[in-house]
Amino acid sequence: MSTGQAVAPALETLREEIAAAAPRVDRGECDTRSALRRLGEHDLLALGAPGNRDGRLPEAAHLVEQIAACCLSSAFSLWAHRMTIEYLQLAPHSQAGALLPELRAGRLIGCTAMAPALRDVSGVEEVPVRARRDGGELVLDGPIRWASNLFPEAVIVLPVHLGGRDRAVVCLRATDEGVRIHQPPRLLALGATASSSVTLTGVRVPRGNVLSEDLPGFVAAFRPTFLVLQTALCTGLAGASLEAAQSRLTGLNAVFADEAATLRARLEELRRRLGAHAADPAAAAVADLLRMRLEGARLAGEAARLEAALHGGAGYAVGTPTNRRLREAAFFPAQSPTEGQLRWELSKYA
Ligand SMILES: Cc1cc2nc3c(=O)[nH]c(=O)nc-3n(C[C@H](O)[C@H](O)[C@H](O)COP(=O)(O)OP(=O)(O)OC[C@H]3O[C@@H](n4cnc5c(N)ncnc54)[C@H](O)[C@@H]3O)c2cc1C
Repeated sequence: MSTGQAVAPALETLREEIAAAAPRVDRGECDTRSALRRLGEHDLLALGAPGNRDGRLPEAAHLVEQIAACCLSSAFSLWAHRMTIEYLQLAPHSQAGALLPELRAGRLIGCTAMAPALRDVSGVEEVPVRARRDGGELVLDGPIRWASNLFPEAVIVLPVHLGGRDRAVVCLRATDEGVRIHQPPRLLALGATASSSVTLTGVRVPRGNVLSEDLPGFVAAFRPTFLVLQTALCTGLAGASLEAAQSRLTGLNAVFADEAATLRARLEELRRRLGAHAADPAAAAVADLLRMRLEGARLAGEAARLEAALHGGAGYAVGTPTNRRLREAAFFPAQSPTEGQLRWELSKYA
């Protein structure tokens, strides 16, 4: 990926720290907030926000990729946090913008509950949270089926349904009255990312925390960044798996050499596309972004499977990086847009 390297000096140290903590994070003995705070100390949480305005989205993609290579949990929390900053920066007039300095510093944590927004504008299903106007406020009721970074200091961005064709994007706090975060379920991986569901009951959102009332326009503005940084999660994990596979291609495992070479070539090609789209996200056609994200999910899964095959029993033991990556890679087909949604949407462009 031809990404900027300006983050490199700080990144080297941070990557080592995050890699060292990865086994504990994977076991759920600590969560992903410390990584976000460390990135915030180096002012690395808002690179390229919004829409590559400062030309640093390639650096953001490089950062996500490098962290995903050592700990997908931390990288996924970073993605969610970075997207929340994107949403607030896309609505500079909103009063929620006052939260940006604390988010950039990693002292508040960003939570993107925006999967239903993508599903709504694509025609899959309507946004489930209902909102009614009451004076200058919106009053929210309904479910957030999944969101990550649901820590007590979370700033949550979500779409709401105002009836008919009217939608809005709003910002609230995990501590607001009427926000009930459910006990997180045990997960195959990413257990340290505070991923769970939420019930909203009569949650009041002041007008200043409404980021947009044009859902399709808002989605169109953030989707390139959303998909670019998700793809960086995939290339980071795929690159780590292929590197781990490389040392095992000897003896009888030489039979996997062609498969490994094919996956490496696909990774290089994907990184090239990722770098180009990160540098000019507004120019990317939606179908190309969806194809890139789908290829990333598939590649990560195939690379993790190859690594597991080459590492044998060691890869089956929980606690090894090979095993962790196998479980981490299983997330990509379920991450919104899911593999099913990506394939369905792409079938419409065929
Ligand atoms: C650990 C974890 C963390 C997450 N974090 C976040 C987050 O931070 N933010 C966020 O917004 N979301 C988050 N999600 C949700 C995620 O992005 C997806 O929305 C979710 O995993 C999709 O699965 P589902 O079972 O909820 O949904 P469904 O959409 O019901 O998907 C189930 C299956 O049915 C298919 N399907 C979907 N719609 C239809 C249809 N109309 N007809 C037929 N088949 C259909 C899907 O392709 C999929 O194969 C997270 C999920 C997990 C597991």
